[in-house]
This record gives sequence, structure tokens and C-alpha cells, in this order.
Amino acid sequence: MKQQKLNGKTHRFFDEDPYMKSFKANVISCTECGGEYLTLLDATAFFPEAGGQPSDTGTITLVSDVTVFNVKEVRENGGELFHVTDKPVPCGKIIGSINFKKRYERMRNHSGEHLLSGFAHTMFGCTNVGFHLNDETVTVDFDKHLTADQLLQIEKAVNDVIAENVRITSYYPQPTELAELDYRSKLELTKNVRIVEIGEYDRCACCAPHVASTAEIGMLVITDSISYKGGTRLNMVCGKNAFKASRQALMNVREISSQLSAKPSETAIAVARFIRQTEEEKAKSAAMCNAYIALRVDSIAPTDGNIVIFEPDLDRNSLRRLVDRAADKCGGICAGFCGSDEDGWSYVLISRTVDLKAEANLLNEKMNGKGGGTSRMIQGSASAPKAVLKNIF
Ligand SMILES: [Zn+2]
Repeated sequence: MKQQKLNGKTHRFFDEDPYMKSFKANVISCTECGGEYLTLLDATAFFPEAGGQPSDTGTITLVSDVTVFNVKEVRENGGELFHVTDKPVPCGKIIGSINFKKRYERMRNHSGEHLLSGFAHTMFGCTNVGFHLNDETVTVDFDKHLTADQLLQIEKAVNDVIAENVRITSYYPQPTELAELDYRSKLELTKNVRIVEIGEYDRCACCAPHVASTAEIGMLVITDSISYKGGTRLNMVCGKNAFKASRQALMNVREISSQLSAKPSETAIAVARFIRQTEEEKAKSAAMCNAYIALRVDSIAPTDGNIVIFEPDLDRNSLRRLVDRAADKCGGICAGFCGSDEDGWSYVLISRTVDLKAEANLLNEKMNGKGGGTSRMIQGSASAPKAVLKNIF
């Protein structure tokens, strides 16, 4: 082991070798804190939760007796890295193993985010003001509005650099060297600033592990974007998640293509056509429904008593329109029902003379129903059979 516990701070293997999956180290201390055990090592390859990237997980194995401890999380405090373990870890030599599959995908996504933010900055003057990475997606906030076309331009530029297989390097410049550098940074730091460079394309201050070359990012896809706090919030994915998102999108396109009998490249046009046709059909059926309601109302003879209407297939809104017009023809209550004895009935009661609000409890009791409204109209559901409902009115 080299350079461990320099300046009393946990040595960070991931700074020099982000690909280190397991490492040897010594347990300095383990303290219980609120039911958790915080284990301090002299060196570690576990990246802590920092800068929007979650911490690594994995195991610590005691060399002396091969006892395994799960590392749920790693937290930074004053430059020291504390490994949250499920039980107390005794002092001694250990072998740490990180869950590298997860870490590698995070490195791919994080490196992709650098390129994306870099191009958003150079192409459109945007500053990254928010970043959050989890194992499903990367969320990035920019301070300016980006159009759909601008996002496509950024996405293309990023993928061109991915294909170029550009080296990604990191280093700690001296303060004087740092002062001369032009780099992106969220914080105004002057010392211990780690610079991550992607060839000529981006230079950014960042403490996290990244992949060694852009080709490892695989692909970057912007999955969605919204206007957010006067700027843009977008979600992007790289690596396996980009493949997953692309595959999912293609499967959906294939399904839509098959259902609408359209070429995969023309599914958007086919969906727009389908929606337009559906709207036209809806308008036609609404016109037919209105014509039916008019005919139905005409067929009702005026009466001083009640009117009861059963229209099993009408929707509630159409039933309400029908009952409202028919109510003009009666001196009592106009009662309308849609539904069936099996599935229950929806009712609409309208009257120009009876205070229905006052009668609601009694009527609901008789109809074995529930509902309410105003003195002019009440509506709800009823479980009584048609024969009983008919008799009530
Ligand atoms: Zn980074």
C-alpha cells in the first residue's frame, strides 16, 4: 500500500485508480453512532456520497478470520471516509470489495454528464446548476432554457466525442496553475481542486471517479426535459441504461407500428391521425347523442306528476342533459337512470318544484343509494333494482 493516511486523512484509492474493485487496508477505529457502526480505514476504494453521486456499497472482510461486514454507505467527514457497517468491525487488516458493476455504470453516466454539461456550456452558454445521479437516471439542471433542437445538438455532439474515444484524465493542479486554468466548477475552491479533463472538450472540477476514455460511456441519450425554475431540467442515461432506454423505446415503436399498421418510422404521424379520427368519431357520436336526446324528450308526454327515464347505455353527462330537458315537462321530479340491475344504477334527479336537497336522504334510502347535490338537482348511485326504482317515482 502506498501513501496511506497522508495528512491524517483517509487515503483515496479511487482518485488514482477508479477501476480498483478490491483493496487491502487497516481498520483505524469503529464507533457506534445511533445504531450504525462507522468504520474508519486508513485507505479505501469506496467512493463516498458526494456531489450528487451516491456512495459505493460492498463488503469489508477481516483478514484474520474472514468475517464479512456489509458496507451500506460511505460518508465523508473532515476528509475522513466513514464506512457504515452492519456490525462493529474490530481493528486489524481487511480486504475491501466494492460493488463494481454499480460503480462502473455510475462512472459511465457521470462521465457522460461532464460531456453533456460541457457542450451545454460551450454551445449555448448554460451553467449546470443541479446534478443528481441514481442507478436509473441522471438528472441535470441548467440555468437557461434549451429548446428541443438545442438538446438534440448537444446530444449529437456528446455522442460524436464518445465515438472519438477521447482520454479522460484527472489531476490536482498547484494553486498557481489552477488560477490560470479555465474550468467549470460549482464551487469557488482554491486548493485541493481535482480537475477532470476530457481531451480538448471539457475541463471540470470534480472529486468523483470517471471512466478512462469516452468510448466506455457507450452512448448518451437525453430521455426527457422540462422547463424548470426558468431553466431546463433533463434526464439522461449512458451505458447500460442508454441501451435499456433505447431498446424500450424501439419495442414501444414496434408495438405501435403493429397496432396502427404503420411503418416504424411513421408511427408519430399514424398516432396523430388516429387521435384526429377518434376526435372526429367522438364529435359524430356526440351529435348523434344530442339528436337522440331531442327525440327522446319529444316522445315524453307532459305531466303534473313525476317522470322516470331508464337509459341503460347513456353516459352520466348525456343522462343529465336528457333529464334536465325532460324536467321542463313535469310538475314533480324527473328521475333518470343509466346502468343495470347487475352493475348498479347511476341516477340524476331534477325538479323545478320539489326541494331535492331536503328530500335527498329519504330518496337515497328508498333507492338504496348515495349521492347529493342542490335543491334543484341531486345525483349519485343506486343499488335497488329497476322495478323498485320505477315504483318510487
Ligand atoms: Zn465528475
